[in-house]
Amino acid sequence: MKSQPQEYLWSFEDLERVLKTHYEHPDIDRVRDAYLYAKEAHGTKRRYSGASYIIHPIATAVRLAEMQLPLEIVIAGLLHDVPEDTDRTLEDVQEAFGEDIASMVAGVTKLGKVKYRGIDRYAENLRKMFLAMAADVRVVFIKFADRLHNVETLFAMPEHKRQRVAKEVLEIYAPIAGRLGMGEMKGRLEDNAFRYAMPQEYDAAKTLFDQQVQVRTDDIEFTIAEARTQLQKAHIPIQYISGRRKFLYSFWRKLQSYHGDVSKIYDLIAIRMIVDSVTDCYAALGILHSHWVPLKGRIKDYIAQPKPNGYQSLHSTVLDEHCGIVEFQIRTKDMHNEAEFGVAAHWHYKQHGSEDPPKIPWMQDLIDIHKEISSGKDFLKHLDEVKLDMFQDRIFVLTPEGDVIDLPEGSTPVDFAYHIHTDVGNKCVSASVNDHAVPLDLPLKSGDLCIIVTDKKRKGPNPDWLKFVKTHHAQSKIRAATRNRVRQWIDGMMGAATKTKRI
Ligand code: MN
Repeated sequence: MKSQPQEYLWSFEDLERVLKTHYEHPDIDRVRDAYLYAKEAHGTKRRYSGASYIIHPIATAVRLAEMQLPLEIVIAGLLHDVPEDTDRTLEDVQEAFGEDIASMVAGVTKLGKVKYRGIDRYAENLRKMFLAMAADVRVVFIKFADRLHNVETLFAMPEHKRQRVAKEVLEIYAPIAGRLGMGEMKGRLEDNAFRYAMPQEYDAAKTLFDQQVQVRTDDIEFTIAEARTQLQKAHIPIQYISGRRKFLYSFWRKLQSYHGDVSKIYDLIAIRMIVDSVTDCYAALGILHSHWVPLKGRIKDYIAQPKPNGYQSLHSTVLDEHCGIVEFQIRTKDMHNEAEFGVAAHWHYKQHGSEDPPKIPWMQDLIDIHKEISSGKDFLKHLDEVKLDMFQDRIFVLTPEGDVIDLPEGSTPVDFAYHIHTDVGNKCVSASVNDHAVPLDLPLKSGDLCIIVTDKKRKGPNPDWLKFVKTHHAQSKIRAATRNRVRQWIDGMMGAATKTKRI
């Protein structure tokens, strides 16, 4: 029998150490108050592992502190299970720690209250809940940190619970973390859940991965040293360079898409490099390419063209005589923070005056708010008041497949249809929302499940739709299709006219 892994017993000292590492002058006393409050409230309660319950809220707070989020969020993390699991009520928390912290705790508590009613139903409900709660994205950060600790300690849970929690993490939490650009959180959530959600695949993937990595590690170190020398010669300072292992779940997914051919996966270990500026990113790429031959079609400029979730970096896969094919990832510190922490990077306790261009639609809104209120002032101080309304003027509508489509408030089934595909928009004849037939101009709400009925024979969109559609995308597609039809009609008339003349 395998010996059970031991649960790490987090202490307040761990949290204190992390705070002192990442924060300039953290108010440790304030955090300690919350810790003592939670500790007393949870009392003698124990976790499945037998450990004292308080280690869970501490672990949650540690993860929030590692993300360098404002102390209010760390404190709310310490208190997140108090109203749900102890005699203390939300009102008690509010009295002790104020309205703002209590409102975050309330948000986390509500998220936990979705009841299990079959996995599909559950997933749908939870997703809706999640989206609704996302009105205060800080709640989502706490929920992620909470869930990450739970999933890291799944071994201590009863068997029947493990599967459910692991599946939920893969199906709901990780994709949302990905959407928010929180790459590190997504990877850690997935790798921990993978093991329990798909034990056989996990074992196979891990064995293969470890073999490959073992073979590669020395070679990679050699290439790193060489890259260092080359950049030094060119006077491009490197802040950081290291081999970075791919997350296991992500490896496995990629392996599936290559039909199990591991030789096609070039970024098992990528060489990640952080330089001072965007200019240095491109300069470094130039130097690397003058030394190593880049593979055709494998140079990706995610700086000029960020991924939809905001990810930025330069990627290039090169061929090295000794070490074979290896991928370089070049980025600035700001891009790195954005890639690891996503939206959370904008909450960083310490802002380094970054001028990151916004990359996700609703992040544009956030940055605008940021610019508006930060004119010379401390952004973070105000941000907590604003509570990031980024989700409030966007709605999230679900497709029957469970995909989340992000639209501006007031969007209609026609906007939704065009978002899915121009053809779906052009051929759209009717719609249903949550199983009820609705008019095409009905404003959709977050959490609605929308189905579009199309008719292949339909000639094109109704120009009247222009009166109610909300998205620029739908407008331009309707205009284009209408123009084409008018053109065809005119062409038809002209043709007929010509024919008539000829006769
Ligand atoms: Mn919890």
